[in-house]
Amino acid sequence: MLMNADEETALGDPAPSATIEPRVAEIGRALVAAMPTARRTPRAAVERRVMAAMVDDPELRAAVFRFVDVRPACDSPDDLARHLGELLSEASASSPLAARGASLATGGLTRRPVAAAAALGVKQMAQRFIIGADAHDALPEVERLWKSGAATTIDLLGEATVTEEEADAYAQRCEDTLRAVAAAAPKWPARELLERDAAGPIPRVNLSVKVSALTPLLRATAPERGIAGAEPRLRHLLRVARDTGAHLHVDMESYDTREAVTELTLKVLSEPEFSEGPSAGIVLQAYLTESPQHLDRLLAWADATPRAQPFTIRLVKGAYWDHETVEAVQHGWTPPVFQDRRACDRNYEQLTRRLIDAQRGGRVRAAIASHNLRSIAHALAYADATGADVELQVLRGLGDETQAALLAAGRRVRTYCPIGDLVAGMAYLVRRLLENTSNDSFLRAQAEGVDLTTLLEQP
Ligand SMILES: Cc1cc2nc3c(=O)[nH]c(=O)nc-3n(C[C@H](O)[C@H](O)[C@H](O)COP(=O)(O)OP(=O)(O)OC[C@H]3O[C@@H](n4cnc5c(N)ncnc54)[C@H](O)[C@@H]3O)c2cc1C
Repeated sequence: MLMNADEETALGDPAPSATIEPRVAEIGRALVAAMPTARRTPRAAVERRVMAAMVDDPELRAAVFRFVDVRPACDSPDDLARHLGELLSEASASSPLAARGASLATGGLTRRPVAAAAALGVKQMAQRFIIGADAHDALPEVERLWKSGAATTIDLLGEATVTEEEADAYAQRCEDTLRAVAAAAPKWPARELLERDAAGPIPRVNLSVKVSALTPLLRATAPERGIAGAEPRLRHLLRVARDTGAHLHVDMESYDTREAVTELTLKVLSEPEFSEGPSAGIVLQAYLTESPQHLDRLLAWADATPRAQPFTIRLVKGAYWDHETVEAVQHGWTPPVFQDRRACDRNYEQLTRRLIDAQRGGRVRAAIASHNLRSIAHALAYADATGADVELQVLRGLGDETQAALLAAGRRVRTYCPIGDLVAGMAYLVRRLLENTSNDSFLRAQAEGVDLTTLLEQP
Protein backbone atom coordinates (compact mmCIF):
# COMPACT_ATOMS: atom_id res chain seq x y z
CA MET A 1 0.00 0.00 0.00
CA LEU A 2 1.28 3.50 -0.81
CA MET A 3 2.00 5.86 2.05
CA ASN A 4 0.20 9.18 2.21
CA ALA A 5 2.08 12.46 2.61
CA ASP A 6 1.55 12.54 6.38
CA GLU A 7 3.05 9.13 6.73
CA GLU A 8 6.15 10.10 4.74
CA THR A 9 6.59 13.28 6.80
CA ALA A 10 6.16 11.39 10.04
CA LEU A 11 8.87 8.93 9.12
CA GLY A 12 11.56 11.40 8.06
CA ASP A 13 14.65 9.43 7.07
CA PRO A 14 13.42 5.84 6.80
CA ALA A 15 16.84 4.20 6.42
CA PRO A 16 17.92 2.49 9.61
CA SER A 17 21.61 2.04 10.23
CA ALA A 18 22.51 -0.79 7.84
CA THR A 19 25.46 -1.70 10.00
CA ILE A 20 23.34 -3.43 12.61
CA GLU A 21 21.38 -5.59 10.14
CA PRO A 22 23.63 -8.68 10.40
CA ARG A 23 23.37 -8.45 14.18
CA VAL A 24 19.55 -8.09 14.01
CA ALA A 25 19.40 -11.35 12.05
CA GLU A 26 21.79 -13.06 14.44
CA ILE A 27 19.86 -12.00 17.55
CA GLY A 28 16.51 -12.92 15.95
CA ARG A 29 17.74 -16.41 15.04
CA ALA A 30 19.23 -16.95 18.49
CA LEU A 31 15.95 -15.92 20.13
CA VAL A 32 13.96 -18.35 17.98
CA ALA A 33 16.42 -21.14 18.82
CA ALA A 34 15.90 -20.40 22.52
CA MET A 35 12.09 -20.48 22.37
CA PRO A 36 10.49 -23.44 24.17
CA THR A 37 9.44 -26.24 21.82
CA ALA A 38 5.88 -27.54 21.55
CA ARG A 39 6.96 -30.73 23.33
CA ARG A 40 7.80 -28.73 26.44
CA THR A 41 4.60 -26.69 26.40
CA PRO A 42 1.89 -29.12 25.17
CA ARG A 43 -1.04 -26.95 26.28
CA ALA A 44 0.33 -23.96 24.41
CA ALA A 45 0.74 -26.21 21.36
CA VAL A 46 -2.93 -27.23 21.49
CA GLU A 47 -3.95 -23.59 21.80
CA ARG A 48 -1.74 -22.72 18.86
CA ARG A 49 -3.56 -25.34 16.77
CA VAL A 50 -6.92 -23.86 17.81
CA MET A 51 -5.66 -20.38 16.90
CA ALA A 52 -4.38 -21.66 13.54
CA ALA A 53 -7.78 -23.23 12.80
CA MET A 54 -9.45 -19.91 13.67
CA VAL A 55 -7.06 -17.93 11.45
CA ASP A 56 -7.98 -20.07 8.43
CA ASP A 57 -11.69 -20.13 9.17
CA PRO A 58 -13.39 -16.73 9.75
CA GLU A 59 -16.81 -18.32 10.50
CA LEU A 60 -15.34 -20.58 13.16
CA ARG A 61 -13.39 -17.61 14.55
CA ALA A 62 -16.55 -15.52 14.86
CA ALA A 63 -18.34 -18.42 16.60
CA VAL A 64 -15.48 -18.89 19.08
CA PHE A 65 -15.33 -15.15 19.87
CA ARG A 66 -19.06 -15.07 20.48
CA PHE A 67 -18.87 -18.14 22.70
CA VAL A 68 -16.07 -16.53 24.74
CA ASP A 69 -18.23 -13.43 24.99
CA VAL A 70 -21.38 -15.17 26.23
CA ARG A 71 -19.54 -17.69 28.44
CA PRO A 72 -19.69 -15.64 31.70
CA ALA A 73 -23.44 -15.09 31.26
CA CYS A 74 -24.21 -18.85 31.01
CA ASP A 75 -25.44 -20.02 34.38
CA SER A 76 -26.05 -23.73 33.79
CA PRO A 77 -24.49 -26.56 31.75
CA ASP A 78 -27.65 -26.68 29.59
CA ASP A 79 -27.43 -22.98 28.86
CA LEU A 80 -23.78 -23.37 27.91
CA ALA A 81 -24.53 -26.34 25.63
CA ARG A 82 -27.42 -24.50 23.95
CA HIS A 83 -25.28 -21.44 23.18
CA LEU A 84 -22.39 -23.50 21.85
CA GLY A 85 -24.70 -25.56 19.66
CA GLU A 86 -26.44 -22.48 18.27
CA LEU A 87 -23.23 -20.57 17.54
CA LEU A 88 -21.55 -23.50 15.81
CA SER A 89 -24.71 -24.31 13.84
CA GLU A 90 -24.92 -20.73 12.58
CA ALA A 91 -21.31 -20.96 11.38
CA SER A 92 -21.63 -24.46 9.92
CA ALA A 93 -22.94 -23.45 6.47
CA SER A 94 -19.50 -22.22 5.37
CA SER A 95 -17.23 -23.90 7.92
CA PRO A 96 -16.80 -27.70 7.82
CA LEU A 97 -15.01 -27.58 11.19
CA ALA A 98 -17.87 -25.66 12.79
CA ALA A 99 -20.32 -28.14 11.22
CA ARG A 100 -18.46 -31.06 12.81
CA GLY A 101 -18.41 -29.21 16.15
CA ALA A 102 -22.10 -28.36 15.82
CA SER A 103 -23.10 -32.01 15.34
CA LEU A 104 -21.23 -32.95 18.55
CA ALA A 105 -22.49 -29.89 20.42
CA THR A 106 -26.12 -30.66 19.59
CA GLY A 107 -25.98 -34.49 19.87
CA GLY A 108 -28.09 -35.99 22.66
CA LEU A 109 -25.22 -37.73 24.46
CA THR A 110 -22.36 -35.45 23.53
CA ARG A 111 -23.82 -31.95 23.96
CA ARG A 112 -23.15 -31.54 27.69
CA PRO A 113 -19.61 -33.00 27.78
CA VAL A 114 -18.68 -31.05 24.63
CA ALA A 115 -19.97 -27.78 26.11
CA ALA A 116 -18.17 -28.47 29.40
CA ALA A 117 -14.92 -29.20 27.54
CA ALA A 118 -15.30 -26.02 25.44
CA ALA A 119 -15.95 -23.94 28.58
CA LEU A 120 -12.92 -25.47 30.28
CA GLY A 121 -10.78 -24.77 27.21
CA VAL A 122 -11.88 -21.12 27.18
CA LYS A 123 -11.19 -20.82 30.92
CA GLN A 124 -7.74 -22.35 30.54
CA MET A 125 -6.99 -20.06 27.63
CA ALA A 126 -8.08 -17.04 29.70
CA GLN A 127 -5.86 -18.25 32.54
CA ARG A 128 -2.90 -18.15 30.22
CA PHE A 129 -3.53 -14.42 29.70
CA ILE A 130 -4.66 -13.53 33.24
CA ILE A 131 -2.67 -14.42 36.34
CA GLY A 132 -5.41 -14.35 38.96
CA ALA A 133 -8.75 -12.98 40.07
CA ASP A 134 -7.17 -10.48 42.49
CA ALA A 135 -3.79 -9.47 43.90
CA HIS A 136 -3.82 -12.16 46.56
CA ASP A 137 -4.60 -14.83 43.97
CA ALA A 138 -1.93 -13.50 41.59
CA LEU A 139 0.96 -13.06 44.03
CA PRO A 140 2.41 -16.61 43.68
CA GLU A 141 2.69 -16.16 39.89
CA VAL A 142 4.27 -12.71 40.22
CA GLU A 143 6.82 -14.22 42.61
CA ARG A 144 7.39 -17.24 40.36
CA LEU A 145 8.08 -14.97 37.41
CA TRP A 146 10.50 -12.87 39.47
CA LYS A 147 12.37 -15.98 40.59
CA SER A 148 12.57 -17.15 36.97
CA GLY A 149 14.17 -13.81 36.06
CA ALA A 150 11.20 -11.82 34.71
CA ALA A 151 9.87 -8.62 36.26
CA THR A 152 6.16 -7.83 35.99
CA THR A 153 3.77 -4.96 35.62
CA ILE A 154 0.29 -5.68 36.91
CA ASP A 155 -2.84 -4.47 35.15
CA LEU A 156 -6.24 -4.56 36.85
CA LEU A 157 -8.88 -5.52 34.34
CA GLY A 158 -12.32 -4.04 34.52
CA GLU A 159 -15.17 -3.00 32.32
CA ALA A 160 -15.41 0.68 31.32
CA THR A 161 -15.87 3.00 34.29
CA VAL A 162 -19.22 4.78 34.03
CA THR A 163 -19.77 6.05 37.58
CA GLU A 164 -17.66 7.82 40.23
CA GLU A 165 -18.19 4.79 42.51
CA GLU A 166 -16.63 2.49 39.88
CA ALA A 167 -13.67 4.85 39.51
CA ASP A 168 -13.22 4.84 43.30
CA ALA A 169 -13.41 1.04 43.34
CA TYR A 170 -10.79 0.78 40.58
CA ALA A 171 -8.46 3.18 42.39
CA GLN A 172 -8.96 1.21 45.60
CA ARG A 173 -8.11 -2.07 43.83
CA CYS A 174 -4.97 -0.40 42.46
CA GLU A 175 -3.99 0.76 45.94
CA ASP A 176 -4.68 -2.67 47.49
CA THR A 177 -2.60 -4.33 44.79
CA LEU A 178 0.32 -1.94 45.24
CA ARG A 179 0.29 -2.54 49.00
CA ALA A 180 -0.09 -6.33 48.71
CA VAL A 181 2.74 -6.74 46.19
CA ALA A 182 4.96 -4.24 48.01
CA ALA A 183 4.50 -6.21 51.25
CA ALA A 184 5.55 -9.44 49.53
CA ALA A 185 8.37 -8.12 47.30
CA PRO A 186 11.08 -7.65 49.96
CA LYS A 187 11.06 -11.42 50.52
CA TRP A 188 11.88 -12.19 46.89
CA PRO A 189 15.48 -13.16 46.11
CA ALA A 190 17.89 -10.60 44.65
CA ARG A 191 17.81 -10.24 40.85
CA GLU A 192 20.49 -7.72 39.98
CA LEU A 193 19.47 -7.41 36.30
CA LEU A 194 15.89 -6.53 37.24
CA GLU A 195 16.73 -4.19 40.09
CA ARG A 196 19.29 -1.81 38.64
CA ASP A 197 20.39 -0.33 35.35
CA ALA A 198 22.80 2.42 34.33
CA ALA A 199 20.30 5.06 35.54
CA GLY A 200 19.93 3.56 39.02
CA PRO A 201 17.55 1.35 40.99
CA ILE A 202 14.45 -0.13 39.33
CA PRO A 203 11.45 -0.82 41.63
CA ARG A 204 10.44 -4.45 42.13
CA VAL A 205 6.75 -3.53 42.17
CA ASN A 206 5.19 -2.11 39.01
CA LEU A 207 1.53 -1.31 38.30
CA SER A 208 -0.04 -0.17 35.02
CA VAL A 209 -3.17 1.99 35.23
CA LYS A 210 -5.75 3.23 32.74
CA VAL A 211 -6.99 6.80 33.02
CA SER A 212 -10.37 5.78 31.55
CA ALA A 213 -10.86 3.62 34.64
CA LEU A 214 -9.90 6.47 37.01
CA THR A 215 -12.80 8.67 35.91
CA PRO A 216 -16.12 8.24 34.12
CA LEU A 217 -15.62 11.69 32.54
CA LEU A 218 -12.85 10.99 30.00
CA ARG A 219 -14.37 12.20 26.71
CA ALA A 220 -12.74 13.65 23.61
CA THR A 221 -15.25 16.51 23.61
CA ALA A 222 -14.33 17.78 27.08
CA PRO A 223 -10.78 16.67 27.95
CA GLU A 224 -10.54 19.11 30.85
CA ARG A 225 -13.41 17.31 32.65
CA GLY A 226 -11.64 13.96 32.27
CA ILE A 227 -8.39 15.44 33.56
CA ALA A 228 -10.12 17.03 36.55
CA GLY A 229 -12.01 13.78 37.25
CA ALA A 230 -8.97 11.50 37.19
CA GLU A 231 -6.46 13.89 38.77
CA PRO A 232 -7.17 13.26 42.49
CA ARG A 233 -7.18 9.48 42.01
CA LEU A 234 -3.97 9.49 39.98
CA ARG A 235 -2.32 11.78 42.54
CA HIS A 236 -3.39 9.45 45.34
CA LEU A 237 -2.01 6.40 43.53
CA LEU A 238 1.28 8.19 42.87
CA ARG A 239 1.54 8.90 46.60
CA VAL A 240 0.86 5.23 47.40
CA ALA A 241 3.46 4.18 44.80
CA ARG A 242 5.98 6.61 46.28
CA ASP A 243 5.32 5.39 49.83
CA THR A 244 5.59 1.72 48.84
CA GLY A 245 8.61 2.21 46.55
CA ALA A 246 6.65 1.06 43.48
CA HIS A 247 6.60 2.18 39.84
CA LEU A 248 3.32 3.52 38.41
CA HIS A 249 2.80 3.35 34.65
CA VAL A 250 0.03 5.12 32.75
CA ASP A 251 -1.23 3.07 29.79
CA MET A 252 -2.33 4.77 26.58
CA GLU A 253 -5.77 4.14 25.10
CA SER A 254 -7.62 5.41 22.03
CA TYR A 255 -6.34 8.47 20.14
CA ASP A 256 -9.22 10.72 21.24
CA THR A 257 -8.03 10.42 24.86
CA ARG A 258 -4.28 10.69 24.20
CA GLU A 259 -4.06 14.43 24.77
CA ALA A 260 -5.96 14.29 28.07
CA VAL A 261 -3.94 11.28 29.32
CA THR A 262 -0.65 12.95 28.41
CA GLU A 263 -1.56 16.32 29.86
CA LEU A 264 -2.84 14.79 33.09
CA THR A 265 0.20 12.56 33.59
CA LEU A 266 2.77 15.27 32.90
CA LYS A 267 0.86 17.81 34.97
CA VAL A 268 0.63 15.66 38.09
CA LEU A 269 4.19 14.35 37.77
CA SER A 270 5.46 17.94 37.52
CA GLU A 271 4.18 18.69 41.03
CA PRO A 272 7.05 19.28 43.47
CA GLU A 273 5.84 16.55 45.84
CA PHE A 274 6.69 13.95 43.16
CA SER A 275 10.16 15.19 42.27
CA GLU A 276 11.77 12.54 44.48
CA GLY A 277 9.45 9.76 43.38
CA PRO A 278 7.76 7.53 42.57
CA SER A 279 9.29 6.03 39.45
CA ALA A 280 6.63 6.57 36.76
CA GLY A 281 6.04 6.35 33.06
CA ILE A 282 3.74 6.62 30.06
CA VAL A 283 3.16 4.86 26.73
CA LEU A 284 4.07 6.01 23.22
CA GLN A 285 2.06 4.45 20.36
CA ALA A 286 4.17 4.13 17.21
CA TYR A 287 1.15 3.48 14.96
CA LEU A 288 0.21 7.15 15.31
CA THR A 289 1.65 9.15 12.42
CA GLU A 290 2.41 12.03 14.77
CA SER A 291 4.20 9.84 17.33
CA PRO A 292 7.66 11.32 16.48
CA GLN A 293 6.36 14.76 17.47
CA HIS A 294 4.75 13.27 20.55
CA LEU A 295 8.10 11.78 21.55
CA ASP A 296 9.68 15.25 21.10
CA ARG A 297 7.18 16.55 23.60
CA LEU A 298 7.76 13.77 26.15
CA LEU A 299 11.54 14.14 25.93
CA ALA A 300 11.33 17.93 26.23
CA TRP A 301 9.16 17.55 29.34
CA ALA A 302 11.55 15.02 30.88
CA ASP A 303 14.50 17.33 30.19
CA ALA A 304 12.75 20.33 31.71
CA THR A 305 11.40 18.49 34.76
CA PRO A 306 14.18 17.25 37.01
CA ARG A 307 13.02 14.14 38.85
CA ALA A 308 15.07 11.77 40.99
CA GLN A 309 14.07 8.78 38.84
CA PRO A 310 14.00 8.60 35.05
CA PHE A 311 10.66 8.84 33.26
CA THR A 312 9.95 5.47 31.63
CA ILE A 313 8.56 5.55 28.09
CA ARG A 314 7.05 2.24 26.97
CA LEU A 315 7.05 2.02 23.20
CA VAL A 316 4.19 -0.02 21.69
CA LYS A 317 2.66 -0.08 18.22
CA GLY A 318 -0.86 0.42 19.56
CA ALA A 319 -3.84 -1.74 20.35
CA TYR A 320 -6.67 0.22 18.72
CA TRP A 321 -5.71 0.19 15.04
CA ASP A 322 -9.06 -1.09 13.72
CA HIS A 323 -11.03 1.27 15.94
CA GLU A 324 -8.96 4.32 14.88
CA THR A 325 -9.21 3.42 11.19
CA VAL A 326 -12.95 2.68 11.19
CA GLU A 327 -13.77 5.81 13.19
CA ALA A 328 -11.73 8.03 10.86
CA VAL A 329 -13.29 6.50 7.75
CA GLN A 330 -16.80 6.95 9.19
CA HIS A 331 -16.16 10.66 9.77
CA GLY A 332 -14.23 11.23 6.55
CA TRP A 333 -11.05 12.11 8.51
CA THR A 334 -7.48 11.13 7.69
CA PRO A 335 -6.77 8.20 10.02
CA PRO A 336 -4.33 9.14 12.82
CA VAL A 337 -2.67 5.72 12.40
CA PHE A 338 -0.37 4.49 9.64
CA GLN A 339 -2.25 2.54 7.00
CA ASP A 340 0.87 0.78 5.81
CA ARG A 341 2.13 -1.97 8.10
CA ARG A 342 5.78 -1.56 7.07
CA ALA A 343 5.62 2.20 7.60
CA CYS A 344 4.37 1.53 11.13
CA ASP A 345 7.22 -0.92 11.75
CA ARG A 346 9.82 1.51 10.36
CA ASN A 347 8.48 4.23 12.60
CA TYR A 348 8.67 1.83 15.56
CA GLU A 349 12.34 1.21 14.79
CA GLN A 350 13.11 4.92 14.45
CA LEU A 351 11.41 5.65 17.76
CA THR A 352 13.25 2.73 19.36
CA ARG A 353 16.58 4.23 18.33
CA ARG A 354 15.61 7.70 19.51
CA LEU A 355 14.46 6.37 22.87
CA ILE A 356 17.59 4.30 23.40
CA ASP A 357 19.70 7.34 22.49
CA ALA A 358 17.69 9.52 24.87
CA GLN A 359 18.42 7.16 27.77
CA ARG A 360 21.98 8.40 27.77
CA GLY A 361 20.86 11.73 29.25
CA GLY A 362 19.56 9.85 32.33
CA ARG A 363 16.13 11.50 32.27
CA VAL A 364 14.27 8.68 30.51
CA ARG A 365 14.19 4.90 30.46
CA ALA A 366 13.16 3.03 27.33
CA ALA A 367 10.87 0.00 27.51
CA ILE A 368 10.39 -1.76 24.20
CA ALA A 369 7.08 -3.64 24.22
CA SER A 370 6.46 -5.98 21.29
CA HIS A 371 6.03 -9.61 20.27
CA ASN A 372 7.49 -8.97 16.84
CA LEU A 373 10.82 -10.75 16.61
CA ARG A 374 12.19 -8.22 14.12
CA SER A 375 11.21 -5.23 16.33
CA ILE A 376 12.75 -6.90 19.39
CA ALA A 377 15.94 -8.04 17.65
CA HIS A 378 16.35 -4.57 16.14
CA ALA A 379 16.06 -2.93 19.60
CA LEU A 380 18.57 -5.34 21.11
CA ALA A 381 21.02 -4.97 18.22
CA TYR A 382 20.84 -1.18 18.41
CA ALA A 383 21.21 -1.18 22.20
CA ASP A 384 24.23 -3.51 21.98
CA ALA A 385 25.82 -1.42 19.22
CA THR A 386 25.48 1.77 21.26
CA GLY A 387 26.45 0.21 24.60
CA ALA A 388 22.97 0.81 26.01
CA ASP A 389 20.85 -1.27 28.30
CA VAL A 390 17.22 -1.76 27.35
CA GLU A 391 14.14 -3.32 28.89
CA LEU A 392 11.89 -5.53 26.77
CA GLN A 393 8.24 -5.98 27.64
CA VAL A 394 5.73 -8.65 26.62
CA LEU A 395 2.10 -9.47 27.35
CA ARG A 396 1.37 -12.50 29.47
CA GLY A 397 0.01 -15.28 27.25
CA LEU A 398 0.95 -13.72 23.91
CA GLY A 399 4.61 -13.24 24.73
CA ASP A 400 5.42 -16.30 26.87
CA GLU A 401 7.77 -17.87 24.36
CA THR A 402 9.48 -14.57 23.66
CA GLN A 403 9.82 -14.03 27.39
CA ALA A 404 11.48 -17.44 27.79
CA ALA A 405 13.90 -16.73 24.93
CA LEU A 406 14.80 -13.29 26.32
CA LEU A 407 15.42 -14.80 29.75
CA ALA A 408 17.66 -17.44 28.22
CA ALA A 409 19.58 -14.67 26.47
CA GLY A 410 20.09 -12.85 29.78
CA ARG A 411 18.02 -9.81 28.76
CA ARG A 412 15.88 -7.66 31.05
CA VAL A 413 12.24 -8.53 30.45
CA ARG A 414 9.03 -7.37 32.08
CA THR A 415 5.75 -9.22 31.59
CA TYR A 416 2.46 -7.31 31.58
CA CYS A 417 0.18 -9.38 33.81
CA PRO A 418 -3.57 -8.72 33.88
CA ILE A 419 -5.59 -9.57 36.98
CA GLY A 420 -9.36 -9.86 36.90
CA ASP A 421 -12.51 -11.94 37.26
CA LEU A 422 -14.12 -14.15 34.64
CA VAL A 423 -16.23 -11.42 32.97
CA ALA A 424 -13.35 -8.97 32.62
CA GLY A 425 -11.09 -11.86 31.69
CA MET A 426 -13.26 -12.95 28.77
CA ALA A 427 -13.42 -9.42 27.32
CA TYR A 428 -9.62 -9.22 27.56
CA LEU A 429 -9.25 -12.68 26.02
CA VAL A 430 -11.32 -11.66 22.98
CA ARG A 431 -9.10 -8.59 22.44
CA ARG A 432 -5.93 -10.69 22.62
CA LEU A 433 -7.37 -13.39 20.33
CA LEU A 434 -8.25 -10.69 17.81
CA GLU A 435 -4.68 -9.40 18.00
CA ASN A 436 -3.29 -12.89 17.53
CA THR A 437 -5.45 -13.75 14.54
CA SER A 438 -5.53 -10.38 12.75
CA ASN A 439 -4.29 -10.31 9.15
CA ASP A 440 -1.46 -7.93 9.85
CA SER A 441 -0.07 -9.57 12.99
CA PHE A 442 3.51 -10.75 13.26
CA LEU A 443 2.35 -13.60 15.52
CA ARG A 444 -0.05 -14.76 12.83
CA ALA A 445 2.69 -14.71 10.18
CA GLN A 446 4.95 -16.67 12.53
CA ALA A 447 2.19 -19.21 13.28
CA GLU A 448 1.58 -19.64 9.55
CA GLY A 449 5.20 -20.69 9.12
CA VAL A 450 6.56 -17.67 7.21
CA ASP A 451 10.30 -18.27 7.00
CA LEU A 452 12.64 -16.64 9.46
CA THR A 453 14.57 -14.61 6.89
CA THR A 454 11.35 -12.95 5.78
CA LEU A 455 10.21 -12.39 9.37
CA LEU A 456 13.50 -10.68 10.19
CA GLU A 457 13.57 -8.51 7.05
CA GLN A 458 14.10 -4.79 7.45
CA PRO A 459 10.61 -3.21 7.19
C1 LIG B 1 3.91 -4.78 27.76
C2 LIG B 1 2.91 -4.23 26.80
C3 LIG B 1 2.14 -3.14 27.15
C4 LIG B 1 1.23 -2.58 26.25
N1 LIG B 1 0.55 -1.43 26.56
C5 LIG B 1 -0.22 -0.84 25.61
C6 LIG B 1 -0.83 0.44 25.82
O1 LIG B 1 -0.72 1.04 26.90
N2 LIG B 1 -1.56 0.97 24.82
C7 LIG B 1 -1.72 0.36 23.60
O2 LIG B 1 -2.35 0.92 22.71
N3 LIG B 1 -1.18 -0.86 23.39
C8 LIG B 1 -0.44 -1.46 24.35
N4 LIG B 1 0.11 -2.67 24.12
C9 LIG B 1 -0.39 -3.50 23.00
C10 LIG B 1 0.40 -3.27 21.79
O3 LIG B 1 0.04 -2.06 21.20
C11 LIG B 1 0.12 -4.46 20.86
O4 LIG B 1 0.56 -5.62 21.56
C12 LIG B 1 0.89 -4.25 19.66
O5 LIG B 1 0.32 -3.29 18.84
C13 LIG B 1 1.18 -5.50 18.87
O6 LIG B 1 2.42 -5.13 18.31
P1 LIG B 1 3.59 -6.15 18.08
O7 LIG B 1 4.82 -5.39 17.84
O8 LIG B 1 3.60 -7.15 19.16
O9 LIG B 1 3.03 -6.96 16.82
P2 LIG B 1 3.06 -6.68 15.25
O10 LIG B 1 2.36 -7.86 14.68
O11 LIG B 1 4.43 -6.36 14.78
O12 LIG B 1 2.21 -5.39 15.06
C14 LIG B 1 0.83 -5.39 15.07
C15 LIG B 1 0.44 -3.94 15.20
O13 LIG B 1 0.74 -3.22 13.99
C16 LIG B 1 -0.21 -2.19 13.83
N5 LIG B 1 -0.89 -2.41 12.55
C17 LIG B 1 -1.70 -3.45 12.22
N6 LIG B 1 -2.13 -3.33 10.95
C18 LIG B 1 -1.58 -2.20 10.46
C19 LIG B 1 -1.63 -1.56 9.19
N7 LIG B 1 -2.35 -2.05 8.16
N8 LIG B 1 -0.91 -0.45 9.04
C20 LIG B 1 -0.17 0.05 10.05
N9 LIG B 1 -0.10 -0.51 11.27
C21 LIG B 1 -0.79 -1.63 11.47
C22 LIG B 1 -1.17 -2.29 14.99
O14 LIG B 1 -0.71 -1.42 16.00
C23 LIG B 1 -1.04 -3.73 15.42
O15 LIG B 1 -1.39 -3.93 16.78
C24 LIG B 1 1.05 -3.21 24.99
C25 LIG B 1 1.82 -4.33 24.64
C26 LIG B 1 2.75 -4.83 25.51
C27 LIG B 1 3.58 -5.99 25.07
